[in-house]
Amino acid sequence: MARLKDKRTIVTGAGSGIGRASARLFAKEGALVLAVDRDGDKVAAVAAEIADAGGRCIAMAADAGSEADVKAYVAKAVSEFGGLDAIYANAGISGGLTPFFEQTVEQWQEILRINLIGPFLAIREVAPLMIRQGSGAIVCTASVAGLRANAGGSPYSASKAGVVSLVQTAANAFYGTGVRVNAVCPGLIETGMTVPIFDHARQRGTEGKLGQLNPLTRPGQPEEIAAMALFLASDEASYVNGQAFPVDGGLTSTLPFAGQRPR
Ligand code: NAD
Repeated sequence: MARLKDKRTIVTGAGSGIGRASARLFAKEGALVLAVDRDGDKVAAVAAEIADAGGRCIAMAADAGSEADVKAYVAKAVSEFGGLDAIYANAGISGGLTPFFEQTVEQWQEILRINLIGPFLAIREVAPLMIRQGSGAIVCTASVAGLRANAGGSPYSASKAGVVSLVQTAANAFYGTGVRVNAVCPGLIETGMTVPIFDHARQRGTEGKLGQLNPLTRPGQPEEIAAMALFLASDEASYVNGQAFPVDGGLTSTLPFAGQRPR
């Protein structure tokens, strides 16, 4: 059964990691996918890979934090697909780990522009069309970093806390329209963004410790986030609205605790 059969969708940040896995899964489940990334070569390769596997996907290079580019990618999806049923506003940057008291206004502005204003623009630009058709599913990528400290730099955490709030306020802005807005809050996932963490651990031989703070005691894979994005984008989530769901192996379920395996 195709869970997104003939749904017209957009995935941003689709050139790598969670966005790539989601574009692949959406297409596999029958969707038409506009795969957007600021790295045009990477996203073209993803679209080609999906087409090779028999999926329907077109690629577009765009900056998800630029107002003009967001208007352009939404217009492209509508002209190519004749409408839009779901969007996954996933593109984001970590912004590095500059110590708190050394961070600059420019660093904060760039992270907020891409990670928070980008999803806001995506929501605003798809709104007239989705309101007119009386349906639509919007999914954003927040993070466990938006729920607690110490999963990224401070502007990154603030941007992701903003995304959690954004999906709450946007869901209510769509009051009575049938349009749903939700977010996924990934834990530690092995993607382009976390390559330095994984490489560092492998070099030190501490790879086995990655993910030890969650009760599944392992990091996640991009496909495990794509599975939640697929659910939220699909009609299966028809009564799910205004929520941000951790997909983190249980990381945010607990206070700091030295876990023990059961005997
Ligand atoms: P990734 O680096 O593998 O993929 C991100 C993609 O987004 C890249 O292809 C990049 O080119 C693209 N991108 C970055 N800025 C863009 C922009 N302005 N416009 C268009 N495309 C842009 O990283 P990922 O982990 O797959 O990240 C996807 C999302 O997941 C991000 O929002 C990130 O903050 C979030 N996230 C990741 C983790 C993790 O552990 N990897 C955890 C929580 C949240």
